[in-house]
Amino acid sequence: MSDIKDLCELSPAYVRAIAPYQPGKPITELAREFGLDERAIVKLASNENPRGISPKALAAVKAALPELARYPDGFELTQALSQRLGVAMQQIVLGNGSNDVLELAGMAFLAPGCSAVYSQHAFAVYPLATQARGARSIVVPAKNFGHDLEAMLAAIQPDTHVVFIANPNNPTGTMLTAAELESFLSRAPKNVIVVVDEAYNEYLDPALRCPSVKWVGRFPNLIVTRTFSKVYGLAGLRVGYGVCHAQVADLLNRVRQPFNVNNLAIAAAVAALTDEDFVRESYELNVAGMAQLLAGCKRLGLAWIPSYGNFVTVEIPRAGTQSQAGAVFQKLLKLGVIVRPLAGYAMPDHLRVTTGLPQENARFLEALEAALKV
Ligand SMILES: *Cc1c(COP(=O)(O)O)cnc(C)c1O
Repeated sequence: MSDIKDLCELSPAYVRAIAPYQPGKPITELAREFGLDERAIVKLASNENPRGISPKALAAVKAALPELARYPDGFELTQALSQRLGVAMQQIVLGNGSNDVLELAGMAFLAPGCSAVYSQHAFAVYPLATQARGARSIVVPAKNFGHDLEAMLAAIQPDTHVVFIANPNNPTGTMLTAAELESFLSRAPKNVIVVVDEAYNEYLDPALRCPSVKWVGRFPNLIVTRTFSKVYGLAGLRVGYGVCHAQVADLLNRVRQPFNVNNLAIAAAVAALTDEDFVRESYELNVAGMAQLLAGCKRLGLAWIPSYGNFVTVEIPRAGTQSQAGAVFQKLLKLGVIVRPLAGYAMPDHLRVTTGLPQENARFLEALEAALKV
């Protein structure tokens, strides 16, 4: 009778139990739903770079177009990263976004009967990468919305193969200091892989950045992941990387699709690495945008979680005991402003907003003020 049900049950129960990732609402979708003009929509929902792709990266993409009949070769990007980071090429694993590298860590080190440790309110890909392998999740309660490293250390079990740490974390924006992280790495069991996800590393004040790539030399169980999706402005091309011990990289490469990063992404990433002006200007734009958003929230009497990323998570006051964040999110949509609701992160009273261009931040604050009034 119900053949499709039987078919679906061929899929392991742990796959069927996965709650799908909820992306930020695309501009095109909101335009369709509300009949809005795409150009009038402000999207501050996915921590994208509001300046768009760097001109150098764009030129590189255009120059690479005639080569699209060929399979990609990651050599040039791997070499550029190896020189930039001062590690061997064998220590670098390219990913279709750093999301891919997080999945590769799961594929290479997790299986049914193992567990992964990560924090409450941590990046949504950690539960996905864990559940997709049939491994058990050990979710450690957060401390002031950030990772509680002492509790995470204590939560590691004999069957724990991977610990995921986001620094800074998304969606909370919280940061661990280099001293805290180094202390964790030196005390964590040597036979547990520790993934330190540094998607927002380039948005940190240089004085606050961890020497995480250097630590790879001391901690063979460490995998550092970075991305071109954020400050480099290449979210749509999907390119990121991991840095780790060469033998760990070898394992990740065995489960990696041979051509996981495409020609255009490789060309853009190589060029983006050289575009220091673009990175510096993007960093400065974020500093200014953060100040603008925080001043606006202060004026509106709102509380926020201090953030070290290119976004800030704002608390929407309840009406009595009733959470209002969902309603405010919907009202913002009607006003053409897309932010990110965080109910899926067990933060039903918060909205996450990405720093935008000055006029986008102003539009958001204006819309927020209106949405809070009604
Ligand atoms: C955005 C983000 C990523 C990177 O995603 P990509 O797959 O590289 O686009 C990874 N980790 C965190 C915490 C992020 O917020």
